[in-house]
Amino acid sequence: LGWWWWAIMVDAENLKYKDPKQPVSVRVKDLLGRMTLEEKIGQMVQIDRSVANATVMKNYFIGSVLSGGGSVPLPDARAQDWVDMINDFQKGSLSSRLGIPMIYGIDAVHGHNNVYNATVFPHNVGLGATRNPDLLRRIGAATALEVRATGISYTFAPCLAVCRDPRWGRCYESYSEDPKLVQNMTEIIIGLQGEPPANYRKGIPYVGGTKKVIACAKHFVGDGGTTHGINENNTVIDRHGLLGIHMPAYLDSIIKGVSSVMVSYSSWNGVKMHANRDLITRFLKGTLKFKGFVISDWEGLDRITSTPHSNYTYSVQAAISAGIDMVMVPYKYAEFIDDLKLLVKNNVVPMDRIDDAVARILSVKFTMGLFESPLGDYSLVNELGSQAHRDLARDAVRQSLVLLKNGKNDSDPLLPLSKKAPKILVVGTHADNLGYQCGGWTIAWQGFSGNNATRGTTILAAIKSTVDPSTEVVFREDPDSDFVKSNGFSYAIVVIGEAPYAETGGDSTTLTMLDPGPSIIKNVCESVKCVVVVISGRPIVMEPYISSMDALVAAWLPGTEGLGVTDALYGDHGFSGKLPRTWFKSVDQLPMNFGDRHYDPLFPLGFGLTTGSVKDIVARSTSAGTRGTPSFIAMIVATIAVCVLQVHF
Ligand code: BGC
Repeated sequence: LGWWWWAIMVDAENLKYKDPKQPVSVRVKDLLGRMTLEEKIGQMVQIDRSVANATVMKNYFIGSVLSGGGSVPLPDARAQDWVDMINDFQKGSLSSRLGIPMIYGIDAVHGHNNVYNATVFPHNVGLGATRNPDLLRRIGAATALEVRATGISYTFAPCLAVCRDPRWGRCYESYSEDPKLVQNMTEIIIGLQGEPPANYRKGIPYVGGTKKVIACAKHFVGDGGTTHGINENNTVIDRHGLLGIHMPAYLDSIIKGVSSVMVSYSSWNGVKMHANRDLITRFLKGTLKFKGFVISDWEGLDRITSTPHSNYTYSVQAAISAGIDMVMVPYKYAEFIDDLKLLVKNNVVPMDRIDDAVARILSVKFTMGLFESPLGDYSLVNELGSQAHRDLARDAVRQSLVLLKNGKNDSDPLLPLSKKAPKILVVGTHADNLGYQCGGWTIAWQGFSGNNATRGTTILAAIKSTVDPSTEVVFREDPDSDFVKSNGFSYAIVVIGEAPYAETGGDSTTLTMLDPGPSIIKNVCESVKCVVVVISGRPIVMEPYISSMDALVAAWLPGTEGLGVTDALYGDHGFSGKLPRTWFKSVDQLPMNFGDRHYDPLFPLGFGLTTGSVKDIVARSTSAGTRGTPSFIAMIVATIAVCVLQVHF
């Protein structure tokens, strides 16, 4: 053999990018230097599971695969089946020329909600009501483990939308209308990705090993501020407003080492975010020094033009030039690759831009140890839906409940309920329906109804297992008032609310409860003492019915652990949740947020009773902080931060 063969052998053994002892930046540089244009562009592509297989992964050098909301769900798959599927794609990637592993992404937005048997936590609106960042961190860690148990390394969470109008169908994905509260909840990122070491430079992405996942702060930026709460619409607000309301949570996420940021479908003052170079490149990557990768939303490029996909080459150019690094579901991936190749060859998109995108993606892959441990680990499968995670979710449910009314007058509280009442009535569309309890983004994008949606405990089942064995529990979904009056019930628990929905499917101008909710409340609450538990992703019309109720609890979309609801109803744990949103009286008042000049809500932001005497415990908080009113100093610091950024904006 000649010297050249010897040289190749030495080089193969010393490939710097394969050496975990080398710094990430050295590995990235080395690998980037070996890649062809096709290999680089492949890294920028994220394809849907339905078109992925080992051969496609290998031949197109695909950087990432996803199961998104728009993907066909895999409801019956066990954790092992997910690992098998993903490992198969991964083996395709590993067999490519340079063996670059892919990352698999999914929307684990309230636990690993895509997989039957997983623990489903309350949706973000409920977590906002807890005002408890430490809880969020623990939920993040549990979610990361369950996601990893299925061989997945990337979740499109958390959603940092500051929902300013509950008519928006994604309002439940938002922690609050209050920017400061959303900012505090970014603690979930530390749970998902791990705590960056003390010497870590802020802005550098961090994922701490094989039990953690890549997080994604979404949707950048202003998604929760669209006019009339119309999904994917235009957010009309000046720079100061954008910076002060919609941006703060991104600052926190970057400080916490978030590895990816997803761009919003919405526009800001008429400019599509997917084509907004000023905000993505200059501000996010420049001023805020974000060093992770920016991902588009699902087919987000297609929607840059008003007729989707009408000028794809233009859309590709606009999005990549704007600073998007990874493209989620390019309309047709082969067409995207050809278009981008041509744009680079014709110097329309500079090679530097491609190198920047790929370097960002690769640095996340190296940081998380994906090159060393690319395959899903079957030993984690028992983490899915583990008792420890269910206990955590139950605790989260308890903390998320907001007690809005307790007693028709101050001296007559109904809660906590007695476990020893001889005979009680449980009623309502939502009392025995796990699908409704979990809401959208559970197994299927729009959610399912019924108890076969996934495994968990309905509120009815939780009541039955909480009361004394001597208590007779009668369940009727929609009883008439004669039945209610003539059966000698001590009290009734009414569970009503919204049916599941997601994204545009949930936009609503009326915000009414699912029928026959109003007549159920009337028939029951006018006949017997009643507590109404509302299962909804946002405040819904409640004012006309409230006087007939003895007690009212906002339970949001609590997820699989119905026992969290009964823990509070029966007084094993006190109510502590505070409204993360303003509860309006009528929809004509919308949008209405705390601080507005004509603020006249049914219940203000921050409101929440605790169990006991109503007078003493009304939380008059219209607070914005973690728990209670924000400190003066915290407000000053936040204001200074916004002013400093304003200078660079
Ligand atoms: C949503 C994103 C989501 C993506 C993948 C889009 O429709 O806007 O929030 O992460 O789909 O499912």
